[in-house]
Amino acid sequence: MCAADGVFPEIAVLTGAGISAESGLATFRGAGGLWNGRRVEDVATIEGFKKDPDTVWRFYNSLKKETVAALPNDAHKALSRLQKAYPAKVSIFTQNVDLLHEKAGTQNVYHIHGRIDRALCMNCMRSNPSESEITFDAPCPFCGKPALKPDIVFFGEVPYYLDLVQQKLSSCGVFIAVGTSGVVCPAASFVFTAKENGAKTFEFNTEPSGNPAFDTAVTGKAGETLPPFVDKILSAVERQENLF
Ligand code: NAD
Repeated sequence: MCAADGVFPEIAVLTGAGISAESGLATFRGAGGLWNGRRVEDVATIEGFKKDPDTVWRFYNSLKKETVAALPNDAHKALSRLQKAYPAKVSIFTQNVDLLHEKAGTQNVYHIHGRIDRALCMNCMRSNPSESEITFDAPCPFCGKPALKPDIVFFGEVPYYLDLVQQKLSSCGVFIAVGTSGVVCPAASFVFTAKENGAKTFEFNTEPSGNPAFDTAVTGKAGETLPPFVDKILSAVERQENLF
């Protein structure tokens, strides 16, 4: 702990698909909700998975290849610098299934919608690494049943880490949402909880949501807008000033 910690508020960050757009990964597009050209209902719902698990696994196998090849951009790197400077005070929650925060060196990233590199057995409910391609009839390495599903929270399923999120939203002094449309629940409600608990709230997006719960909306690509914001925070702390 250094003296500057006294002026450094707890910061909770929520990231969405937009933070990875500058790394070449597609966000959801249009009102119909296309993800890499596929209908969200077909590839990100349990009904879609039960109807055609082969297609769903092929979609995530191909997404896995794409995400493994992708590199973190300046927005991921800026958040990593912020967290490295104040690890105990910065929590990163992501809706993304990619691993670009980790690739940028960020520790303890909470993937509330799961991870592309894991599979969940629907028989024994154990999650296991799935770095290579998986077929819908592959056996679970623990129970042997062919019941593997991508360990990705589909629409209608309960996200991970919600208790921890609530705890951090209650105690943070600053809440920052980056590259998220604010239409996927419950992540869309995080800003309201943070605000009700007295946090200053910031949105970084190419298209501001217009959500009045945000005190400040910074418009532009996160890779361009987030690094100077993080620099401002870090230099204010060095000068023992509270920016917020
Ligand atoms: P979304 O696709 O609904 O919205 C993306 C948001 O990012 C939009 O508001 C858009 O204006 C903004 N944006 C686009 N480019 C940006 C940039 N360069 N800088 C800043 N903002 C930018 O994303 P969501 O709100 O995260 O919800 C989508 C769901 O889809 C999530 O649950 C996630 O699991 C999944 N998803 C994940 C990935 C990934 O892992 N990379 C990609 C697509 C979808």
